[in-house]
Amino acid sequence: MKRIFDLQRGLSRDGSTVPLELRQQRLRKLKTMIQTNEAAFIAAISQDFGNRSADETRVLEMGMVLNAIRHTSSHLRRWMRPERRPVSMVSQPARAWVRREPLGVVGIIAPWNYPLFLSLGPLVDVLAAGNRAMIKPSELSPRFSDLLAQVVADTFAEDEVRVFTGGVEVAQDFSALPFDHLIFTGSTAVGRKVMQAAAANLTPVTLELGGKSPAILCDDYDVEKAAKSVAFGKFLNAGQTCIAPDYALVPRAKVDTFARAVIDSAMKSYPTLAGNDDYSSIISDRHHARLVAAVDEARAAGATVLTAGDATMTNDRKIAPTVVIGAPETGVLMREEIFGPILPVLPYDSIDQALALIKGRARPLALYAYSTQQAKLDRILDSAISGGVTLNGTLIHAAQDGMAFGGVGPSGMGGYHGRDGFLRFSHSRSVFKVGFVNGFEKMGPPWGRLARTAAKLLMR
Ligand code: NAD
Repeated sequence: MKRIFDLQRGLSRDGSTVPLELRQQRLRKLKTMIQTNEAAFIAAISQDFGNRSADETRVLEMGMVLNAIRHTSSHLRRWMRPERRPVSMVSQPARAWVRREPLGVVGIIAPWNYPLFLSLGPLVDVLAAGNRAMIKPSELSPRFSDLLAQVVADTFAEDEVRVFTGGVEVAQDFSALPFDHLIFTGSTAVGRKVMQAAAANLTPVTLELGGKSPAILCDDYDVEKAAKSVAFGKFLNAGQTCIAPDYALVPRAKVDTFARAVIDSAMKSYPTLAGNDDYSSIISDRHHARLVAAVDEARAAGATVLTAGDATMTNDRKIAPTVVIGAPETGVLMREEIFGPILPVLPYDSIDQALALIKGRARPLALYAYSTQQAKLDRILDSAISGGVTLNGTLIHAAQDGMAFGGVGPSGMGGYHGRDGFLRFSHSRSVFKVGFVNGFEKMGPPWGRLARTAAKLLMR
């Protein structure tokens, strides 16, 4: 790891910028790498989970990265162009512009839940910005991680991109390397450790973390329609999605109808659980046990638990889509990010009350609101902060190459995707070129009339 880092860092310090054609070529190689290994990636990810739908892996992982490559390749020339900037009056005559330059070597630490999208998605932006990259995928998706390491080694030179597999010790050593930038996707708790390790090197970080993303149903919106949408966002990948709606806030009188409709919708999407390739398993026994215990805890505290399907647990580590009404505030379900197919539904009596509940918690990664009235949606947007938002739907804001994706506060810092990602992994270098006369230096010393005129202008 250290050898590759030194090699990449050394080459990135040779002073030459990385031309457009080389960046495009790296993106093309990445695209071919994903396309030619489609079946192998799908199989590895599915085996890591126990079961993961091939369609989900195609649409939500490979498709997303390939889309990002298309978008970035077609705009990169324009993004790389130096940007002319205004020159202040007292500094004339002159020209000023900003160059977008590579940072050097960027580290990428990825989680297991969308292992391909969250390791190669950042890589698109990192390569587009002209950097070299080192990737540390998750030890909880070992088959995928090994495959990634192998195909990256077959595709890229070691001074371009390399993958390092292993457990927490490897991750710790990795995050201690003096990268020029480090992007970490994972839990808030580990994000804290990564930022601490990076701070020792003054390595800037982008943290893509988690949190409890709420969905609010306003009283004017069709309950069934909202329930179907929340069910879609929640049960995809069995809830193991960072921006899955974590819990739902529903007008008190509609809680039962909403909860029932979520379950009905889940049963239509996943008529069976065992042997159903469309429904993901939970990644590990530990996570499975954590989710089962969280539901048991709520049930013991008097909550109503509804499940879609015959069995809550099956022997392939699946958990049936579950809705919990009356989950206690102090229980795991309402304290921690759920990251599984369990949806607490909370009643509210006024929108102010619902907003107060969201505002009283850590700022979430995503927020979902359902209303036909823009004024209501605006009110929610103005009151409750989150990393990103989808209105009248779920998840899809994260799939837009035209907007940054990221968190705020404990759900993360720094967005990427598309141009925002390109800028995130570029150094914006300001250049000032003095014109035919240098008025600044002409002022003095000795300070004279010119300096006094300039001072007058500046101190108006
Ligand atoms: P995690 O934090 O346990 O692990 C993520 C990565 O960090 C892994 O590669 C792991 O090896 C590494 N790691 C572990 N300990 C480390 C240490 N001490 N120092 C450095 N690296 C270390 O997260 P996870 O369980 O893989 O993923 C689930 C979490 O990720 C959830 O909280 C979810 O919300 C979040 N997430 C966020 C996004 C996003 O884009 N914001 C996307 C997906 C997942």
